[in-house]
Amino acid sequence: MTKIINVIKGTKDILPQDVASWQRMEKIALEVFSKYGYKEIRTPIFEATELFARGVGDTTDIVNKEMYTFEKSDRSLTLRPENTAGVVRSFIENGMARLSPPVKLWYKGPMFRYERPQAGRQRQFHQVGVEMFGVKQPTADAEVILLAVNYLKALGLNDLEVEINSLGCPKCREAYKAKIKEVLKPEFDNLCEDCQNRYEKNPLRLLDCKVDSCKEIFAKPEIQKVIQSDFICEECAEHYRAVKSYLDVLRIKYVENKLLVRGLDYYNRTVFEIKSNNLGSQNAVCGGGRYDSLVRNLGGDDTPAVGWAMGMERLNSLLPLVETQKLDAYIVSNSPSDAFALAEELRAAGKTVEFDLTNKKFTKQLEKAGKAADFALILGEDEIKSGTVSVKNLKTSEQITVKKCEALNKI
Ligand code: ATP
Ligand code: MG
Repeated sequence: MTKIINVIKGTKDILPQDVASWQRMEKIALEVFSKYGYKEIRTPIFEATELFARGVGDTTDIVNKEMYTFEKSDRSLTLRPENTAGVVRSFIENGMARLSPPVKLWYKGPMFRYERPQAGRQRQFHQVGVEMFGVKQPTADAEVILLAVNYLKALGLNDLEVEINSLGCPKCREAYKAKIKEVLKPEFDNLCEDCQNRYEKNPLRLLDCKVDSCKEIFAKPEIQKVIQSDFICEECAEHYRAVKSYLDVLRIKYVENKLLVRGLDYYNRTVFEIKSNNLGSQNAVCGGGRYDSLVRNLGGDDTPAVGWAMGMERLNSLLPLVETQKLDAYIVSNSPSDAFALAEELRAAGKTVEFDLTNKKFTKQLEKAGKAADFALILGEDEIKSGTVSVKNLKTSEQITVKKCEALNKI
């Protein structure tokens, strides 16, 4: 026998019985984000590799280890590991900066990262996300957090924890980075290999290392003292206070977490994550923050921006199963031409209808109807002769015979 070909490790089919839940996540995203004036944008799945090297940052795990990169006609291309860089590229390229701010965008779609597959972590996964350009005020940070919380609420998830932190601006962060390096210097040899590599280039990233031995080091009192210290400048502190006060007004509960630094290089000031206790160790559903320098770094004019991305697989695993809809009616008949005609009439009126294309025995067709539909529409010889149809309610087993033209009103 010919060998079968399997799905690639770290990727998954979303099967027909699971798709209803995905359609619901997408539909509610459109509904909720539209209310706040966000417009959907769809950017290509692959982009120039340089976009991510510059946009995500060449000290990140994503760029260093996780990208699917390939060559075509001497160009280096990469499957998008996230969508912010692509949206920013499009924002610049299409002159969206000329539109009156804010420019509010949302997206959904597959992302690709070469990570170790495990529960909550795939190599092709999906994100839904929002980006807002052109507002430096803390109202923007508050609105996007509100949007994430309200999207989750609309899906029925009310009990997720919002964590926030401020990374300050590049200026005040410099001094903090230096202090972190200084206090960790005596521990350098005890840090994990990744942390040793990040130590010079991206010392803040050490703080969200998931390796236990590193976590123990960061828990030491002298190191905690530096981590917990208030390093941000007065302007950044004012921004942070304002974001928190808007969240208070909006009754959004949050926890401040000084270890929250986010994996990507481009963030400044506000960063946040939304976590669930029902997800095991991959517990973050949503991550985001402010990235005021990214548009300029990718060649555009200085434009403040803030946004987030949510992992749809993790989100989906928190949601109750959505039952696949049954058909409105299943036509039981041994006359395909009559069945075709009735089915088309009902479909034109918006009903979901099927009949047995293989023309099996009546009993078999009735069995199938019982599983697949709410009503059986029986077109036997008698019914066809008299221009009627027998309508059987498959829940109550009640059956009535009506004129064919009335079938629509009975189902
Ligand atoms: P994590 O810490 O879980 O690796 P991250 O900081 O790399 O997340 P982001 O790049 O901010 O995540 O992406 C936002 C969200 O996308 C995450 O909170 C998560 O829900 C989801 N996500 C990220 N990577 C994956 C993956 N490999 N598989 C499934 N979902 C993912
Ligand atoms: Mg990650």
